[in-house]
Amino acid sequence: MARYTGAVCRLCRREGAKLFLKGAKCASDRCPLEKRNFPPGQHGKDRKAKIVGYGLQLHEKQKAKRMYFTLEGQFREYYEKANRATGVTGELLIQQLERRLDNVAFRLGFAISRRQARQLVRHGHVTVNARKVNIPSYQVNVGDEIAVREGAKKLQIVEQASQYAAQNPAPTWLEANFENLSGRVLHLPKRADVNLPVNEQLIVELYSK
Ligand code: SF4
Repeated sequence: MARYTGAVCRLCRREGAKLFLKGAKCASDRCPLEKRNFPPGQHGKDRKAKIVGYGLQLHEKQKAKRMYFTLEGQFREYYEKANRATGVTGELLIQQLERRLDNVAFRLGFAISRRQARQLVRHGHVTVNARKVNIPSYQVNVGDEIAVREGAKKLQIVEQASQYAAQNPAPTWLEANFENLSGRVLHLPKRADVNLPVNEQLIVELYSK
């Protein structure tokens, strides 16, 4: 499956906002955005135009897409599905992004970033209801039990992540057991349950043109 393999901090600089793609580094003064908060590239520093209208809508979509490490086609599918369903389209879009297994693994503290969580899932280190699932976009459901496989609990990245997770409690729609590296889906996430600096209404406006 295609995926972005470039430098992730460039994505934050492109959006001019922290997308939290590198775990602990994002909260430290080693974050490149602290010193170079301008777009990457030779002329990045010179671009000062205020973003409005279509540019702003595009900006919000790119932010959400990059935070969850999805590509355009898949992100658009999430929107189409949300648009067909009953409810508030923007909220349903965010809900689908949150329900991705790689995101849930990140939220439960199995990894320090969504990117790392995605790798953990791809390598078959995560189970759903005691069965190995290696599809990062897998959508979790209410009552699902998610865990790190026994053999992977001693992985250095998992141990580091569980220490980091203790300072970042899981969202209320998930029940996390940081010691046992497992968790459960209590209910589907509502917009208020998701701490995401994105205006989803602008994304809906962009796609509904
Ligand atoms: Fe973005 Fe984190 Fe890199 Fe800072 S350290 S630019 S927040 S990915």
